[in-house]
Amino acid sequence: MSSARTADSRLEDKAIALDQTRRRRLVSAIACSVIERADELTALDAAIGDGDHGANMKRGFEAVLQDLDALAAMSLPDLLKGVGMKLVTKVGGASGPLYGTLFLALGKELSDAPSRATAASGFGGAIAAVKARGKSDVGQKTMLDVLQPAFEAFAAGGDAARVREATLLAADGTIPMRATRGRASFLGERSVGHMDPGARSASLIICAVCDEFGGG
Ligand code: ADP
Ligand code: MG
Repeated sequence: MSSARTADSRLEDKAIALDQTRRRRLVSAIACSVIERADELTALDAAIGDGDHGANMKRGFEAVLQDLDALAAMSLPDLLKGVGMKLVTKVGGASGPLYGTLFLALGKELSDAPSRATAASGFGGAIAAVKARGKSDVGQKTMLDVLQPAFEAFAAGGDAARVREATLLAADGTIPMRATRGRASFLGERSVGHMDPGARSASLIICAVCDEFGGG
């Protein structure tokens, strides 16, 4: 038992390999996943918001793709800050500053070669920054209802498949929720029965990361 714990803690401390090729693939996979599903995000936002979430996110991640080579050549912290700045300036709406904050905070939290343990604590710190920026918390039917469970699955030692599963479940879990933050909160009870668009876009981003790391 103690040797299993030692092996686990060694795994926790090992740097996650993220060379330039992998950084490029990761950013490209995240951006393409969101862009490909822009219509779905728009339909979700049309049901409980103003129908711009797909267009907002597509605009932001297309700007990210335009700078893909330059971003991939940067250190991980600078890459994350670069993505965050693109999202802040291009996405707009409520989600632009919030996703911008997520990536900017990740850029501040993570080193160029994070371990599993430091990646988990950095992800947790970035979620805290989103909560502060949005004056929001879990349980309000927002992107946080996906980000937080994904973080918890990862911090608990879950592998890519487990984090992916928790993420998709969490996005589904926003369907019966009543929104108390963001535009959907104006609908009160009528926000019940629809997946939150920001929860869906957060799940696309996390699943793209999981697929990249799940693939070895
Ligand atoms: P807008 O609501 O301004 O049209 P978007 O449609 O791009 O912006 O994004 C809406 C999404 O942003 C929501 O589905 C929700 O997940 C997220 N969101 C809105 N307000 C907050 C907040 N205060 N905290 C966390 N997430 C929020
Ligand atoms: Mg909207």
